[in-house]
Amino acid sequence: LEERLHKSDTLNVIGELAAGIAHEIRNPMTALKGFIQLLEDSVTDKNAMYFDVITTELNRIDSIINEFLILAKPQAIKFVEQDIRVILTETVNLLNAQAMLHNIVFKLDYSDDIPPLFCEPNQLKKVFINIIKNAIEVMDKGGTITVTATTTSDSRIHISIRDEGFGIPEEKIKKLGQPFYTTKDRGTGLGLMVTYRIIEEHKGLIEVESEVGVGTVFHIYLPESN
Ligand code: ADP
Ligand code: MG
Repeated sequence: LEERLHKSDTLNVIGELAAGIAHEIRNPMTALKGFIQLLEDSVTDKNAMYFDVITTELNRIDSIINEFLILAKPQAIKFVEQDIRVILTETVNLLNAQAMLHNIVFKLDYSDDIPPLFCEPNQLKKVFINIIKNAIEVMDKGGTITVTATTTSDSRIHISIRDEGFGIPEEKIKKLGQPFYTTKDRGTGLGLMVTYRIIEEHKGLIEVESEVGVGTVFHIYLPESN
């Protein structure tokens, strides 16, 4: 049921492509959005629906481009020593309002003996945001998202994020993190790709454990020192 994922080759190619294409698309997009806004005043009952579709789809292109740019930008990554529990708690606080809207509560369970981690905190936040957002999106009946952090006997920090969503069929687990793999109407299929890339940059590992109808656990292992 578990699958180790190594995606570096695909990621490199996509990263290079993204840099060029995303920038090229952004400028005409800005023009389009500007002029569509100007047209808003002349929207009639008859064509209001078209206007809505155009706006929604433009926004969708926008979010794909933005995620692509995050991928492409080799941001000046600054590794610092940080407590992973602080990063996790800050991320959970950020998403708490969204979770509450879906009747979801967070349960945090950290062990006391976790040493500071040499990492890029904002990048790791991005990882946890992506995973937790996915968790929220699959728990339409509400429930609990459990976040844990512990150390392992071989000096790694183990973080787990467990949801009570509808789960992932075993044969689909290997598709996670592939560019544009999404099962959502409005998904981009880029969130987990960014996630896997960042964990790789931290010399870490992601494992996914899932049971259909029960839920999914994302396990992340990060070396205590790089
Ligand atoms: P997106 O959220 O835009 O679809 P992601 O890369 O974040 O893109 O996720 C890709 C796909 O992986 C999702 O569409 C969904 O099918 C699956 N997935 C990710 N996380 C979960 C989860 N916690 N439970 C069930 N399916 C998931
Ligand atoms: Mg997502």
